[in-house]
Amino acid sequence: MSIRPDEISTLLQKQVEGYDQSLEMTDVGTVIYVGDGITRIYGLEKCMAGELLEFPGDVMGLALNLEVDNVGCVLLGDYKKIKEGDIVKRTGKIAQVPAGEAMMGRVVDALGQAIDGKGPINTEVFYPIERIAPEVTERQPVNEPVQTGIKAIDSMIPIGRGQRELIIGDRGTGKTAIPVDAIINQKDSDIYCVYVAIGQKRSKVAGVVQVLEERGAMDYTTVVAATASEPAPLLYFAPYAGCAIAEALMDAGKHVLIIYDDLSKHAIAYRELSLLLRRPPGREAYPGDIFYLHSRLLERSAKYSDEKGGGSQTALPIIETQEGDVSAYIPTNVISITDGQIYLERDLFFAGVRPAVNVGLSVSRVGGNAQNRAMKRVAGRLRMDLAQYRELEAFAQFGTELDKATQARLRRGERLVEILKQDQYMPLPVEKQIMIIFAGTTGLLDDIPVEKVRDFEKEFYTAMDERYANIGQAIKESGDLTDEIEDELKSAIMAIKQDFLSEKDLDLEDKATA
Ligand code: ATP
Ligand code: MG
Repeated sequence: MSIRPDEISTLLQKQVEGYDQSLEMTDVGTVIYVGDGITRIYGLEKCMAGELLEFPGDVMGLALNLEVDNVGCVLLGDYKKIKEGDIVKRTGKIAQVPAGEAMMGRVVDALGQAIDGKGPINTEVFYPIERIAPEVTERQPVNEPVQTGIKAIDSMIPIGRGQRELIIGDRGTGKTAIPVDAIINQKDSDIYCVYVAIGQKRSKVAGVVQVLEERGAMDYTTVVAATASEPAPLLYFAPYAGCAIAEALMDAGKHVLIIYDDLSKHAIAYRELSLLLRRPPGREAYPGDIFYLHSRLLERSAKYSDEKGGGSQTALPIIETQEGDVSAYIPTNVISITDGQIYLERDLFFAGVRPAVNVGLSVSRVGGNAQNRAMKRVAGRLRMDLAQYRELEAFAQFGTELDKATQARLRRGERLVEILKQDQYMPLPVEKQIMIIFAGTTGLLDDIPVEKVRDFEKEFYTAMDERYANIGQAIKESGDLTDEIEDELKSAIMAIKQDFLSEKDLDLEDKATA
């Protein structure tokens, strides 16, 4: 075989021409410290705050501290696999979660991965967990209601779409029960729901999911769960992930209700991270930016202007207090960020007033604009009557020694307190709420014994449905209480009451004291 130089030179030429130098620039660094779910990394000069970093063994991390010579990072997976000297790669991406309608009916972890055993989530939509809140020009005032189905709230502490309403109270005062009922009540509305569980027991979250499933509420709900057994970074992450899922829907012109249960545990998780990252502790050992932690989250709730599609995100953050102390650091912060609060009281809860809403201390600063006319009318009266009742309540023990007017006010107040009680999982349509509050505030219930008021209420609804369905329908359609409807309603209440009192065969003595 002879060597032909021209052949070789053409081959070489081809090779040289085809040579394409591909130089891949990956920014890599080295782990110099690891412990308790955090690492410090040397050599990631270009790293962004909030960027996702990739560790060996598919563990992801989130860059939180950008310091002069190192990057402080929290680990979002099993940190026991990471050791000093490991190589860390930048991803160039801010953390994001899957979003879109495929998320409905699913239970996911803080990273948006399914944990409900129903297989992976098929979605093309991904949303960044941190985003700048909509600007003022992109918003419009709150003017549509979110009906919770809870009498005490829809009447006196109304919530509008795009509002942020805090639910605050001690342990075990029914904080979770309120938003769960509100979710169940969205069954026939166009509102999607996101429930974010932060630092709760696994069993409690499972309980909520089960209730929602049983009542067909999971169809339009996503549950984001970071339970107490998970590392602090995931607890820190969870509300932002939930918010991103809600934002995807809001951007698509839809309405979303998001619940953060609860932000006290979120703050504690963040404090843990911050102390591990050696950020300087401030009041109650929380880091200096703890206010920003919650304000940047809650500011993302909005009612978009019509140009932006008119979608909305309504937030119900929950805060747990110790011994009813609302002046602690985290409660005051969140109170100042939200548009009002629903204050739940332990004493009321144990006295059997459930939901244990303290009406005097609860307020909704913007939701009133979203109430319909009929509700506005009856609720104004209700508020006043209850306020008067609270003033006089302390004198109730004097009984018959009081003057007639005082006795009458006490009588009225006691019955109003009764009709505001409501069992769990029993949300009530707004027209029924209006009818019963109307009955209470016009004094039509004053001659029913207090302990029978709730029985009457049940019979009243059934009778209204069976015999006077047109009245409820009229209120629902017009959203108003015209004189005509009012008269009809009055006579209906009288007739139902007559039946109730005679059927129960209540002794006349009871009525005589009226
Ligand atoms: P935690 O601080 O443990 O999260 P919480 O404040 O969220 O508690 P819930 O779990 O909602 O409180 O309620 C505490 C208990 O009170 C539950 O057993 C619940 O079933 C009951 N409960 C709540 N609301 C009502 C109600 N309206 N009527 C009757 N029972 C209620
Ligand atoms: Mg709870």
